[in-house]
Amino acid sequence: MKNYDVAIVGAGPGGIFTAYELSIVAPELKVAIIEYGNKLIRRKCPIDGENITKCINCETCAIMNGFGGAGAFSDGKYNITNDFGGTLFEHIGKKKALELMNYVDSINVEYGGEKTKLYSTASSAIRTKCIQNGLHLLEAKVRHLGTDINYEVLTNLYEYLSKRIDFYFRTEVKEVRKVDGEYELDTSEDTFHCRFCVISAGRSGSKWMEKVSEDLQIPKMSNRVDLGVRVELPCEVFNHITDELYEGKIVYRTSKYQDRVRTFCMNPKGIVVNENTNGIITVNGHSYEDPNKQTENTNFALLVSKHFTEPFKDSNGYGESIARLSNMLGGGVIIQRFGDLIRGKRSTVERIEHSFITPTLKATPGDLSLVMPKRILDDIIEMIYALDKIAPGTANDETLLYGVEVKFYNMELMLDQNLETNNRNLFVIGDCSGVTHSLSHASASGVYVARFIKERLDGLNG
Ligand SMILES: Cc1cc2nc3c(=O)[nH]c(=O)nc-3n(C[C@H](O)[C@H](O)[C@H](O)COP(=O)(O)OP(=O)(O)OC[C@H]3O[C@@H](n4cnc5c(N)ncnc54)[C@H](O)[C@@H]3O)c2cc1C
Repeated sequence: MKNYDVAIVGAGPGGIFTAYELSIVAPELKVAIIEYGNKLIRRKCPIDGENITKCINCETCAIMNGFGGAGAFSDGKYNITNDFGGTLFEHIGKKKALELMNYVDSINVEYGGEKTKLYSTASSAIRTKCIQNGLHLLEAKVRHLGTDINYEVLTNLYEYLSKRIDFYFRTEVKEVRKVDGEYELDTSEDTFHCRFCVISAGRSGSKWMEKVSEDLQIPKMSNRVDLGVRVELPCEVFNHITDELYEGKIVYRTSKYQDRVRTFCMNPKGIVVNENTNGIITVNGHSYEDPNKQTENTNFALLVSKHFTEPFKDSNGYGESIARLSNMLGGGVIIQRFGDLIRGKRSTVERIEHSFITPTLKATPGDLSLVMPKRILDDIIEMIYALDKIAPGTANDETLLYGVEVKFYNMELMLDQNLETNNRNLFVIGDCSGVTHSLSHASASGVYVARFIKERLDGLNG
């Protein structure tokens, strides 16, 4: 049995920032991070586009698991805002949440992000143009690290942390047990004993988290999934927005269904990529700070949120089924020209090849209307026409749509104001809590809990 003061499950941003902050406020504590995936340096997805073009379902997914978590190869956009990215503020208050997100930003800057840019949507002329056209621009500061600098920051953080805490990679936590008010964690390797347990298992750990919440009787709350497409167009169409804001988070309420559609994860001069969630291939996007890696296209997602109520409980299952349908028809992600979609035609290899836009992801030309529910597709089409008013060219025939993009959310757990469960000294943070959906919020939740553990110990000891 391995004994620790604090055991952290998961080395994503939530776990990393819990460990980092503990090393600052309570360096005397013995801390372990137990991580299912690999060290950062060993994380390499085998899809090379030539020999391996499709997911081969590796034992641990290099994209989702390992040091850095799901965000390790992400675009590294740290959105400092309470407007999106999670509802951490509902637990710790808006002021505290922003303060912690700014603190996380300062650590990222210190560990390699010093040359990166902090964008802001405050008092932007784009906001006015949005309002004039029925669109709403959400307010945020955005630190864009880029995939390359994000990797560098993580490398530097690992270098710092590995001297202060114990890492156990390729170690899957199977079960969390409460024993005499403390915790035992059964893993694929050893059993760990700890006084404080912080779970930050992310989205990839969502199914496991459901089991833990049942074992330890942690009550659950709501149930949501976001569905949509990734849009790719010439970067010139959005340059006036991305040059100023980097990422415009724009929300629109459709006139037909009164649904909210939002832009998500905007990647100026970026690439569209495959994402593998539980063996299902969906779509996502990346961009790079390095001008040599940039493309002529900008991409972003258009997403519609579906909230389900009782008796339906499996919102992720609903999203998975739609993504599976696209995989069934296209062998993976489907690509379609906006003009083809509007005219009720499938896209073909020839039409895509003769387009003026070169797709940055190899996907199967097809018909998204055979995959997406009508309501969601109608919402997306209406949003594209709305965006065309502030970024003319968005609704061009040539605009490419990749489907499907799905954002799975974890079942939200019932946590108190300190992100503590109904089991004392058991905390659930980051995306697996259902409270956060972003790098900033997940990281900030880790800092918050680390400081709270220190306060509790001081209270007990003092
Ligand atoms: C391709 C991509 C791009 C993204 N881009 C952005 C972006 O630009 N900006 C943004 O704000 N967000 C982005 N996100 C979302 C962001 O990555 C997540 O919100 C964030 O990583 C959540 O952090 P976390 O620590 O909660 O979980 P994760 O980062 O998912 O980390 C959880 C870790 O726990 C491990 N784990 C799970 N179960 C177990 C277990 N049973 N035992 C041991 N270990 C376990 C996993 O292997 C994983 O490494 C992106 C996500 C993806 C996939």
